[in-house]
Parts: sequence; C-alpha cells; structure tokens
Amino acid sequence: MSTAENRPAERMMFQLNLRRRGISDQAVLRAMDEVPREAFVEPRDRGDAFRDTALGIACGQTISQPFVVAYMTGQLELKPEHRVLEIGTGSGYQAAILAKLCRQVVSIERFRTLADSARKRLQKLRCDNVEVVVGDGFAIPAALGQFDRIMVTAAMEQIPEALTGRLEPDGILIAPVGPHHRVQTLVRLVRTAAGFKRKDLVDVRFVPALPGIAQEL
Ligand code: SAH
Repeated sequence: MSTAENRPAERMMFQLNLRRRGISDQAVLRAMDEVPREAFVEPRDRGDAFRDTALGIACGQTISQPFVVAYMTGQLELKPEHRVLEIGTGSGYQAAILAKLCRQVVSIERFRTLADSARKRLQKLRCDNVEVVVGDGFAIPAALGQFDRIMVTAAMEQIPEALTGRLEPDGILIAPVGPHHRVQTLVRLVRTAAGFKRKDLVDVRFVPALPGIAQEL
C-alpha cells in the first residue's frame, strides 16, 4: 500500500489546505500529518484520501471531511492527561487523531462491522490508547465513567442530558445538532459551576445518530 511517507506532494497539499481554511493549532496539524487517512477509507477511495471531502464507508456511513475533523479536534482544547469519549467510531479516523493528543479515547459505534474494522486499523497503526466499544451513544454504560471531553460525530436533534451528565467539571462537548439529513449546527458546550455554556460554531452535515445497536443483516 502506498503511504503518506511516499506521497510528499499530497501530504503537503493536505496540510496547506487545512492551514488555508484556518486551522492553526500546531498540535492538531501535526496529528493530522501523522495519521494516514488512506488507511481509513475504502480501497477504491485511496486516491481521494488526501482531498478535503467526506467519503463513503461501510454500512452507509461516512468518514468526515479532514477540515471538519481538524476543526472539531481543535475546539476540544485537548490536554495530554484527558480522557475523551467519541460517539460514532465509523472508520476510526477521528479516534486516531484524538488519540495523538490525549491519554485515552473511548469510541462508541452502533455497527459491529464498523467497530471491528476500526479496531483492527487502530491496532495496526499502534493507536493503543483507543478503546472501540460496540454500543449506543444514547445509552452509555455507567462503567465507562466520566470524561474530560466528548465528541459526537453523528447528528443529534438535541444533546441528551444523559450525555452532558458524563462531562467532568470544566469539560467540553462538541456535537452536530439539528435535523437529520439536513444542515446541522456544530455546538460546543462547556460545563461550568453554573451549568452549561453553549456556543454555536459552524454549519455542518453529518449522518444521523440513531438509537440502539444496529441490527445488521
Ligand atoms: N468519526 C467517524 C465518522 C462518523 S460517521 C470517522 O472518523 O470515520 C457517524 C457514525 O456514528 C456512524 O458510523 C454511525 O453508525 C455512528 N452512530 C450513529 N448513531 C450512533 C449511536 N447512537 N451510537 C454510536 N454510534 C452511532
């Protein structure tokens, strides 16, 4: 397989595009450089892996656009000691980026097929601080505990209290909020002593967050 190491021109364009779109956080840019996106896309899409576009993956889902991945990651203001929850593992790409910037990532996916292949990829890339869990992001097992940061990568009509309740004090949650199959707003919540401080960021389009573990045929 051709890797980012032997495709310096594409790799440089990938970084330039992120910078041009306003990503300036050096740690985020470095993580985006280190994780080979081509390892997370379908084999037919390898040639498009460096383009700034979402791509289809198994189970009718998508791997997000690199700019959105970088932007959302930056908004979490990650610290090396953080424990992060991701809802919607998909390909595992976003989880791999988060894993470069924090202590531990727990990523939940409702499709077993996606969870299994993401786990394999992450193992191969030695992302040992990611745990992929088959489950429902609307019903997170209590045993997973509390999180410093939460990133939702599927669109929710609203953010459930069951989810915001899993944030540590001063924790940050980021999620696409809005109607399914239309434009949503990326929302950032910060847990304060007084409650939650909300900021609406940018318009985005994500596949819907659906309840329950997927019944695959
Ligand atoms: N972060 C992924 C892209 C996510 S696409 C990546 O980097 O590739 C959204 C994912 O959320 C899909 O895989 C979808 O199956 C999953 N999903 C939707 N609803 C969910 C839920 N309730 N719990 C867990 N995962 C969910």
